[in-house]
Parts: sequence; structure tokens; C-alpha cells
Amino acid sequence: MAEMDRTTGRTFAHGATRFAPSPTGELHLGNARTALFNFLLARHGAERFVLRVEDTDASRSRPEHTVGLLQDLRWLGLQWDAGPGCEDALGPYYQSQRAALYAQRFEQLQRQGVVYPCFCSAVELEAARHAQRAAGRAPRYPGTCRALSAEERHRRLGAGQPATLRFRVPAGRYIEFTDLVHGLQRFLSDDIGDFVIRRADGSAAFFFSNAVDDAAMGVTQVLRGEDHLTNTPRQLLILEALGLPAPRYGHISLILGSDGAPLSKRHGATSVREFRERGYRPEAVVNYLFRLGHSSGEHDLLGLDALAGVFDPRHLGRAPAHFDEQQLTVWQKHAVHRLDPQAARDWLAPLLPSGLDPHTAMAFCAAVLPNVVLPEDAKPWIDIVFGPAPALCGEGADVVREAGSGFFSAAARAAAGGADFAAIAAAARAASGRKGAQLFRPLRFALTGLGHGPELAPLLRVMPAGEAERRLSRFA
Ligand code: GLU
Repeated sequence: MAEMDRTTGRTFAHGATRFAPSPTGELHLGNARTALFNFLLARHGAERFVLRVEDTDASRSRPEHTVGLLQDLRWLGLQWDAGPGCEDALGPYYQSQRAALYAQRFEQLQRQGVVYPCFCSAVELEAARHAQRAAGRAPRYPGTCRALSAEERHRRLGAGQPATLRFRVPAGRYIEFTDLVHGLQRFLSDDIGDFVIRRADGSAAFFFSNAVDDAAMGVTQVLRGEDHLTNTPRQLLILEALGLPAPRYGHISLILGSDGAPLSKRHGATSVREFRERGYRPEAVVNYLFRLGHSSGEHDLLGLDALAGVFDPRHLGRAPAHFDEQQLTVWQKHAVHRLDPQAARDWLAPLLPSGLDPHTAMAFCAAVLPNVVLPEDAKPWIDIVFGPAPALCGEGADVVREAGSGFFSAAARAAAGGADFAAIAAAARAASGRKGAQLFRPLRFALTGLGHGPELAPLLRVMPAGEAERRLSRFA
């Protein structure tokens, strides 16, 4: 049975995916890809896409990062069905507001006797890890507080000694699950130390709140970074102990820079905000991220619905994906060249001269679009078309001089009747007998100051009245 969302009218199957960012920084391309894949997985199966803000770590979470995350996701078009601003009965969707729900679950585990308070200090824990590493063993909690007597625990808690709450990992068990990307995974519980589910300040630790919330929010499938693969057995243990359903997990490969190191600031721009501010189109970013680690026979620029139609977690690669800005630029070209005039005008609006009438603005954008990848590429053409006549020097001056004054007086006369490039070229041709590049290059230099650029006819149509004539008559 499907359910209908009363606000959107969208019909959902019983299932959900989610994106669960921690607002500790800007939305990185890697996280944006995780969000995209979860969004597409949800849309593919008509499931809900949930956004949950994992802000339990008060020292590292910042409200401005949350604002940025929401803005970036909306810009990419990854609108969530439930989450901040789309609250429903399964919320709140900020983990910082879910403490009471976690408290009930902590109590449940305490009643079941599968957790215990741990009084070990950070220094003691570090010393234990150090000793284990020195002995060639993987560091894990040595179990110091596991065996404390009930009286001893009581005494220490009564004395106000700070305590975390640890989950008692059962001995001698295999924890198995089938990862959507990596297939069957098997972990021995003995390799997992008892882990903290509640910090000493009372806040829920990641393993706990993440797992409990997936169950509480009806999340059935999770795609997340490969760095969480080894957390999964812990989370499955928590869910099992609480009698809650576990989602199916898929762990996606990391994104590496061209040098093979995880993508980071030293590779240049890595946040969605940076790409947006440089003028990248959201559909370019989305189409590029879709191909980053997801194989597909689709080579066209696709909208989100079409991408959802062809998204398949079985096509997610296990090998790390390499970020290549040139590939992003290829998608950007596709995206820009597909903009309709109005969208192109909106995109270039911050650069256009103020007071330009909307019709001229649109015609200008349509004229220069084939020569533009990023807005900065349009900037010189804005100056050329709407600014003062460009001065000529070097090759341009030579080409114009060679064409001669008769050529330009004929061209300027034709331009006086309106800036119709075909008429201007025909007049110059009749006066000089020139054709092809011999005819067009002097006109292009005289009109734009450059030997290359967008088609001249549409450019002349948007130049201020009389400007083409003035520019040509300079050489008559
Ligand atoms: N808040 C976690 C992170 O940003 C979420 C991990 C997950 O998706 O389960 O890494």
C-alpha cells in the first residue's frame, strides 16, 4: 500500500532513504554525491527522501553550516520529503532536539543490562590504546569498567564521577550484512571493543543516534561513505538489542583528487558553495556527480527524474572515484548550452549592466552563450557590446588598415540603416570584392576589437543604437 503526502501530493511506497549530514563544515562534493545518490535511490523506488541534521556534537556543529547545507541541497534540486522545514510526526529532524527520545532508548538498554557506565578518563583510554598498538594489536576498549560491581558503579556515580555509557558487545559472534555496494560483509564481534553510546555530557554518540533515528524515521536504505563501513556492525548490534529494524546499508567509495589523496582543500574548490559561486550550474554538478563512481550508459545531460530512472546501486563502483574538474567543465558546457534565453539571463544577471531592458538582456545572453562556460567568460563580451568601442592594435589594426577606407565607408553606410550584419557585409563585399575571412575579419575587428567570438549578427542586434555605424566609420 502506498501513502500520499498531503502537502506535495507525491505517493510513497513504504520505504525511505536519508541524507544525514553533520553541520561541521560546508557541503563537500563527496557529501553532495551521497545526498544525490540517496535522493535518486528514493525517487527510483518512490520512497521518501529524509534529511536529518546530525548536530549532537555541540562543540563542532554550527548553525551557519546547517543553513549552508540546506541551501546547497536546494540549489542542487535535492528537495527532501521530510526534514527541516518539512516536519512530520517522525521528526524533529535535528538530532539536537531528540534527546528525550534517546533517553528512552538508553533506559531500555540499561534495563536490559546490555550497557554499563564507563569511568575511564581520556588519558587512561589513550594509554590503553598506546599499549595495544605497541603490542601490535588493534586498539579497542580493554573492558576496564565492564566488570565493575553494581556497588562500585553506584558509588562512583553517586560521587558524581563523570561516566560515558558503553554498549556491551557480545563475545564470539559474527555480525553479517549484505552491503548494497560491497556485498556480504562479516565481522567478528570479538574484534569490536565495547563502544560509547552516550558521552559523559549526556549527549548521544554517533553510532547510537544515527542507528536509532534511522529506525525511528522509517529509513529502509542508506547509502553513505565507505568510512562508515566498520561502524555498521556496531549499529546493527544496537538496533538488534533495541528490537528495531535495520536499514540496508550501501557504502560508497571515497572521492579522490587527481593525485590519489582524498579530495580536500589543497585540490582547489571542493565545496558546493564554491562551485555555485563560480557560476557552475546545478544540473552540471548533479550530472557530473552522478557519473562519479556510478557507471551508466547515459551520456546526455539528464534531469533529476531521468537520473532517478537509471540510477541503480548495483552500478556503484567499489574503487575510489577520481574528481576531475575538466569533466565537470564538460557537463557545465552541456548545461550552459541548453539554457533557454530567460534562464541564461537569470544566470548572467549579476554581471549585466543595470537598466538593460529584459529583451535586450535575453538576446545578448543567447548571442554569447555558445562562447561561455562560466559567467566570467561573458564579462569581456558585456564590455565589448555595451562599453566604449574597443581600441585596435597589433593584428587587428593591420587587418583593418588593409581592408581600407572604401570598405569601411560602405559598411558604415549600410549600418546607418540599422545594425543588420548581412546588409553590412553585403555592402562591404560589393565595395571591395572581398569574401570569406577577407570580408569578415576586418568587420569583426572593427566591431568587437577581437578576431574571434560569437556570431556577429545577433551581437549587432543588441548593441546600443548607432554603435555599429560609429565603430565602422572610425576606419572609413
Ligand atoms: N553524520 C554522519 C556523517 O556526516 C552520517 C553518516 C551516515 O550517513 O550514516 O558522516
